[in-house]
Amino acid sequence: MAKRDYYEVLGVSKTATEDELKKAYRKLALKYHPDKNPGDKEAEEKFKEAAEAYSVLSDKDKRARYDQFGEAGLGGDGGFGGFGAGGMNMNDIFSMFGDLFGGGSGFGGFGGGFGGRSGGGSRRVNKGSSLRVKMKLTLEEIEKGVEKKIKVNKYVPCHTCNGSGAKAGSGVETCSHCHGSGVVIETRQTILGAMQTQSVCPTCGGDGKVIKEKCPDCHGDGIVKADEVITVNIPAGVADGMQISFSGKGNAGARNGIPGDLIVSIEELPHENFERDGDNLCHQTYITFPQAVNGTTIEVPTLTGKVKFKIEQGMPSGKVYRLKGKGLPDVNNSYHRGDLLVRVDVWVPKSVTKDEKAYLEKLDSFDNFQPNPNKKDKSFFDKMKDMFS
Ligand SMILES: [Zn+2]
Ligand SMILES: [Zn+2]
Repeated sequence: MAKRDYYEVLGVSKTATEDELKKAYRKLALKYHPDKNPGDKEAEEKFKEAAEAYSVLSDKDKRARYDQFGEAGLGGDGGFGGFGAGGMNMNDIFSMFGDLFGGGSGFGGFGGGFGGRSGGGSRRVNKGSSLRVKMKLTLEEIEKGVEKKIKVNKYVPCHTCNGSGAKAGSGVETCSHCHGSGVVIETRQTILGAMQTQSVCPTCGGDGKVIKEKCPDCHGDGIVKADEVITVNIPAGVADGMQISFSGKGNAGARNGIPGDLIVSIEELPHENFERDGDNLCHQTYITFPQAVNGTTIEVPTLTGKVKFKIEQGMPSGKVYRLKGKGLPDVNNSYHRGDLLVRVDVWVPKSVTKDEKAYLEKLDSFDNFQPNPNKKDKSFFDKMKDMFS
């Protein structure tokens, strides 16, 4: 059998960079992945061909030998472990996949099916899909953490068949094609030596079992849609846009598979008193001009009740007070809490009466009321930095 040129297989030039190779292989691997093309022999061959080409070209040594000597440079000398000795099987290809796609990067779809290699077979386990919900939370709920009940419409095991997918009395048979292993192993003689490949059994789709007659309620899937109330505990300190994953609370897996995850996206509701800045809360309030001059005590809200604090004599308008630990807990560190930053401004009335105007003009004639900033005070810009640190 004439082998195609590895560069041609991946559709790249001989000078392709590592990145270009990776991209090309990713594209092909996704296109011809057995999960996307169940039972399609040609796709499976293309999938393996691409894996083989990539495994050679992504290895500097092998690529150099291949460039110089062609396939002959790879065979027989023991230096080419991938195919020469044991052959590259589907598990190897899938572990290569893991490297390529980096763990859970949206690739939950496959994974599970080829996980366990124990006992020779690796029967596929159906994993239910993730269930996504949005959750609106107040800052008060975020401050304490909260237990929430959410009503969802999701896949649950079918009661009629107990999740088996089989009609009552008809039962389930071991798949005669793969003898229950869920995979078929093929050994081929290739120019590189014996090549063993393992793929999902096309007859049972990897279940290892075949249903004789399908359950009428779930059409053989073993799962049906139903309303369910799920209780979740949201930790304190979560923020808008965060996603919290609850393992096993998502959709049930087909035919008694493993349930998927519930993924809760947090939406923070706006608060009338506070703006959030990370773990800190910001609040803004006013005092009168005489209060700013004479000093006073004010009361401000926090998420856990009101607190009082002192304003010293001669408070400059816009001063920011930091109330330590009155912010939000850090979701990643229960020992840390943010602060409450209170900005206090001097209230200026929009209009005044004649009498008030005369009174203020009198006040304005005193020397002590003329602007006389202390040059040693922090600059405006330093204050801004303090406010947001
Ligand atoms: Zn059923
Ligand atoms: Zn089978």
